[in-house]
Amino acid sequence: MATQDATTLDVDAIREDFPVLDRTVGGDVTVPGPDEGDDTPLYYLDNAATSHTPRQVVEAMTEYYYEYNANVHRGIHTLSQEASVAYEKAHDRVAEFINAAGREEVVFTKNTTEAFNLVAYTWGLTELEAGENIVTTEMEHHASLVTWQQLCEKQGAEVRYVEIDENGELDMDDLREKVDDDTAMVSAVHVSNTLGTVNPVVEITEIAHEHEALSFIDGAQAVPTRPVDVAAMDADFYAFSGHKMLGPTGIGVLYGKQELLEALPPFLVGGSMIRRVKFEETTWEELPWKFEAGTPPIAEAIGLTAAIDYLEEIGMETVERHETELATYAYDRLNEFDDVEIYGPTDRGGLVSFNLDGVHAHDLSSILDDHGVAVRAGDHCTQPLHDILDVPASTRASFYIYNTKAEIDELVEAVDTARQLFA
Ligand code: PLP
Repeated sequence: MATQDATTLDVDAIREDFPVLDRTVGGDVTVPGPDEGDDTPLYYLDNAATSHTPRQVVEAMTEYYYEYNANVHRGIHTLSQEASVAYEKAHDRVAEFINAAGREEVVFTKNTTEAFNLVAYTWGLTELEAGENIVTTEMEHHASLVTWQQLCEKQGAEVRYVEIDENGELDMDDLREKVDDDTAMVSAVHVSNTLGTVNPVVEITEIAHEHEALSFIDGAQAVPTRPVDVAAMDADFYAFSGHKMLGPTGIGVLYGKQELLEALPPFLVGGSMIRRVKFEETTWEELPWKFEAGTPPIAEAIGLTAAIDYLEEIGMETVERHETELATYAYDRLNEFDDVEIYGPTDRGGLVSFNLDGVHAHDLSSILDDHGVAVRAGDHCTQPLHDILDVPASTRASFYIYNTKAEIDELVEAVDTARQLFA
């Protein structure tokens, strides 16, 4: 594990924990893994899509499979008890990390998307009434936007979208206007995965509560990159994914205030989430197990615990500082080109989305890929936002703890090559 002083990351040491960063690219992509045609160093700048996994996380999961692989909550034998303890403790570790009151408030889902669906199918279908509204924003990821849109359609409720201004920031006056006494939920992304905008989530939650509405904050890009305190934020629901914060795929988190989760019906039903089943009726397990039907993501929960350990050893303030430094550097360097348009405010989370005049994002990223630079091209699951930006797609570079300014220089150089090619 990397050591560093309180303010700067020892990126070289960190990179040693991520073997994939040493690989080269450029060869046959029809088979996974390096091949003889791979001769270009990899510059991985697609962390907002998914982050890489350090040895420590892989080893924690390997240890589970090699030494105490068993199902949880259903065996008296030693292995099952060990696995159950590790799985339960993973909830405690997540609770500590985001300052939730305890494991009762931490439900493991498949990902952020499932967390939104869980709330829509439980709270939404039972509580949201015709004539009420859900206020969300123009910069939401489809995981939240489509979920609220479909829920409102089913329930005869209205979905309202808070506008963004020309800097890509939320128009808070518009938000205040759109939230009224018929608002049942206010839902906003904490850090936009396209614009990088960091939204004022405390204020958003306060406005929701002034109207007795609930708040649901999408933390998919925030939890990996900055300290998050759900208690201080007073959010009612908060969601994020393990795979964007050094953890494995297949596990996400829904945080919910205990009294709210207690009151909700289950989402999926079956084994593990029941207390007593009779032919006539069934009663539910206590929180959080009531929302975790079937065999849960055990190895993934153990991996997520190791990912949190890794991030905490670095310190989330330090992670945030590093993200800001790289995003500012990338913004400034790309801004040197007058034919590059960058979206979003100058104060931003660790990502930069942009377009090169007259060049489709897919063509640009394909050239970047030839230079070993891995970025995301497309709509980043924010199609309505791209409609507002009036472009079909954009190219997004996103940074994490193992990235360096030198990698951003590679990005900028590759963009410059593309500029000359398409000029
Ligand atoms: N919300 C935001 C802001 C995201 O960036 C993403 C993923 O890109 C999601 C939600 C959905 O995450 P997942 O695909 O892990 O469910």
